[in-house]
Amino acid sequence: MAYGRQGPGIREKEHATVEGVDLPGQWNRMFEPRVITDYDPGTLDEITALPGGESLGWCYQCAKCVGVCPVDIVGDYGPRKIHRDTLRGASLLDSPNLWLCTTCANCFRVCPKEVDMIRIMPAAREAAINAGKEIPPELQKVFEAADRYGNPMGENPRKRADWIKQAGVPVPIMAQVKRPVDVLWYVGSYPSYHPRGMDAARALARILHALGVDFAILGTEEKEDGDSIRLAGEKGLFEKLAEANIKTFARYTFNRLVVSGPHEFNAFKNEYPKLGGEYRVQHYTQFLVEHLERLRALMTHPVDRVVTYHDPCYLSRHNGEYDAPRTLLRAIPGVTLVEMARSRENGYCCGGGGGGMWLDSFSRDHTTMRLSDKRVTEAAETGARTLSICCPYEVSRFEDAVKSTGSGGRLDVQDIAELIDGSIGMPDRG
Ligand code: SF4
Ligand code: SF4
Repeated sequence: MAYGRQGPGIREKEHATVEGVDLPGQWNRMFEPRVITDYDPGTLDEITALPGGESLGWCYQCAKCVGVCPVDIVGDYGPRKIHRDTLRGASLLDSPNLWLCTTCANCFRVCPKEVDMIRIMPAAREAAINAGKEIPPELQKVFEAADRYGNPMGENPRKRADWIKQAGVPVPIMAQVKRPVDVLWYVGSYPSYHPRGMDAARALARILHALGVDFAILGTEEKEDGDSIRLAGEKGLFEKLAEANIKTFARYTFNRLVVSGPHEFNAFKNEYPKLGGEYRVQHYTQFLVEHLERLRALMTHPVDRVVTYHDPCYLSRHNGEYDAPRTLLRAIPGVTLVEMARSRENGYCCGGGGGGMWLDSFSRDHTTMRLSDKRVTEAAETGARTLSICCPYEVSRFEDAVKSTGSGGRLDVQDIAELIDGSIGMPDRG
């Protein structure tokens, strides 16, 4: 029997009759080795060629990330989809998907191939910015404000320490103290300017004062830490902010840096050392846990409520701290701590990380529900009266979500510092 050819690369048996059975040629088609030309690997290559983007190419579509990605839970997303789309010739740099990842690290936790969205996304975003691609206007506004004013809200830098006037206790400022201190407290942008962030800052100031901690803040010398700006793709601006803060820190002598928020914690612990700024850094919950026995003695007013706790991604999954906040909550008299179904290692992201803090309206156009709304619904399902937090991004996000989901009246949002302060019950609050 002879073989005929039907098109390049295909060998097909000619029509034959074998022992009275009629065999059409297609029945026995054979294929020769061939070059696959039905997709364009260039769009995957443009990501894997970036420093930090390599691991997108390691995905083997196992789908383990699908069930844990918070954006996928309210939409159609996740590393698997991003990998598949790029294989199909869609450029990530031109896609809205580029801005939806919150860098929460839940996919990285489960991915057998260590596809690392926490490195891929900032690298791809930086490439898009450098290529002059369209970026969400609200993000552009934040970049400009942080560059010009040293905070992402565009607030007056001279007013950065105005919150201390209503703290009810003295809050020393490094430039005036003129001596070494034990704790340099980096307050952060949202606790300095956002009304509810200021409430938490004042609460923490009162707690530090009650504990007799030797501390001071930078006041108007402090600038945005820049970590979320880095993750949103503006690495150059992050470096500019970091260099300014490192220069300011170098003017003073202190034992440790205590921070209000997980993003600052991540910045000072993991990113500033790459630029020469090495510090002993603690999140405020870690610092307070070291003073637990003294705190217990001070917390004499029962708070009497059921409380649930939201793990902030950059304190928990990114930096492994799950217990300090819970230890503090359990130590507050009258507090009963209940856990949400998604907690600790599998905690659900509030949507604020990786630049998401400033992309709510953009995200709303590409998902069925804001991540903060979803999380508040999960908190309300526990029956808790209070959703406790220890990240300055979260109070505004969750208080908005309480209103938009209709959970108001049943659930309030409190920083752990506010709960502790309430239990200490200092009379002089200014
Ligand atoms: S878990 Fe990792 S390898 Fe599996 S589909 Fe997701 S990104 Fe790909
Ligand atoms: S880092 Fe978080 S938001 Fe981003 S793809 Fe992974 S699971 Fe989804």
